[in-house]
Order: sequence, then C-alpha cells, then structure tokens
Amino acid sequence: MTARRKLIAGNWKMNGLKADGLALASDLAGRLKGAGVVAFDMLVCPPFPLLFPVHEAIADSPLALGAQDCHAKTSGAHTGDVSPVMLKDAGCRFVIVGHSERRADHGESDAEIAAKAAAAHKEGLVAIICVGETEAQRDAGQANAVVSTQLKGSIPEGATAANTVIAYEPVWAIGTGKTATPDDVKAMHAHIRAELDGKIVEPDAVRILYGGSVKPGNAAELMAVDNVDGALVGGASLKADDFWAIGVSC
Ligand code: PEP
Repeated sequence: MTARRKLIAGNWKMNGLKADGLALASDLAGRLKGAGVVAFDMLVCPPFPLLFPVHEAIADSPLALGAQDCHAKTSGAHTGDVSPVMLKDAGCRFVIVGHSERRADHGESDAEIAAKAAAAHKEGLVAIICVGETEAQRDAGQANAVVSTQLKGSIPEGATAANTVIAYEPVWAIGTGKTATPDDVKAMHAHIRAELDGKIVEPDAVRILYGGSVKPGNAAELMAVDNVDGALVGGASLKADDFWAIGVSC
C-alpha cells in the first residue's frame, strides 16, 4: 500500500484582517516548530491580501501557504484576478481550485477549473481540485456520477500525485455542521481513487482530502477512514486550537 502523508488544509475563505491572520498563522507556525516531527503537513489558505504578510510571518516554519483561487493566465486584462505566478511570488506552494463556492458564486465550469489547475502546475504550485455533489444530487442517487464528471473535466493533462491533491467536499456538508458518515466518505473516496486511474500519474499516491464541517470532535473518526488523506477545513481553521486539534488527531 502507498503511504500518503496527511494534509490538513485551512481555507480561511473571506475572513480575517491582517492582525487576525498574522496572529493565527504565527500561532500555528509556532506550534508546528515546537512539536518537531508530526504526522501531518499543515497548510493555510488566507485571502489574497494576507498572502505576503502571512508568508513573511511563517517563512521559517514548516507551515505551508496556499491561495483560494487563481486565474488560468499569467498576466493581462483580467480585472480582479490573480495569476499563479503572482501566488508563487507571494510564497504560495498550493492553490485551491474549483471550490464549490467558486463553482456556485462565479459559475466556474470543470473546463475552467482544469485550465486553472494546469496554470498552477506550470508555476510549480500544487493544485487542490475540489469536487462534490449537492444534497439534491445525493438524494437522487447521483453522487458518484456527479463526482466522476467533475474529476474527468477538472483534472488537467500532466496531473501527477506530486502536483495535485483532490478534495472531496459534499456541498451540503460545507459550513452546515452536517458531516458525511464515515461509511459514505469511505465509499466516495474509494470511488474517487478508482476514478483517478488513467487521469493522474501515480493515482495511488494522490492525496484525497475530505472537507465539510470537519472539527475537533469528528476529525479522528474521519481521518481514520480508508483513502482519507487529510482534511480541507473551513470554519474550524479560523481558530488555532481547533485547527491544531484536527491536525494532531491524524
Ligand atoms: C470549506 O470551505 O472547504 C469547508 C469544508 O468549510 P467548513 O469546514 O466550514 O464546512
């Protein structure tokens, strides 16, 4: 069996001003440094304006930095957008693409997400590609088919286990306090693992994260599920104690 190191990723979404972000990131960086060898990688994905200051604050720690989105182009007339090369310049190693809030709020298609992931890869960034069904799709028995379609459309040519992470986030579990059962998570992650065959180089080594109301109280159970290689955490990543507790539950 391929050993996959767990990745605990915090998606701060549109939360936090400079002082809050610096305090949170510095706290986590200090805990990671103090802990020495840990069984997980930890990543924070602050809003764009906080990337440079957070990078400076955590530069001498193992805490990794990522962004929440990127454009598929390097530069040009794209008002309001940020390119992968800019993210790299800001100290990012990761970028989330295709989060369900981007798919819903900005109408992002699988093809656009694949283009963003490919652009991220070109700059040496790891793309965290998000997939997940809505509650109506799950109730209609379409969860596997929806996720298969998203994977097929969102994973670009050239994706490997080193440059790509998949995050399974059932839309109905994000920010709602509802969590998929360990059995449902196990079944979906096995489905995703099987689907990666032929789409990503070294499919067995790809990390598949679970996201959707992960918190200290349910993290250990979820992180113990087969093929769950970490978590993408929203709300609970905004408190250092909670996010750290999720990490150490691995
Ligand atoms: C997310 O934003 O990706 C997420 C999973 O949020 P939450 O943990 O708050 O459900």
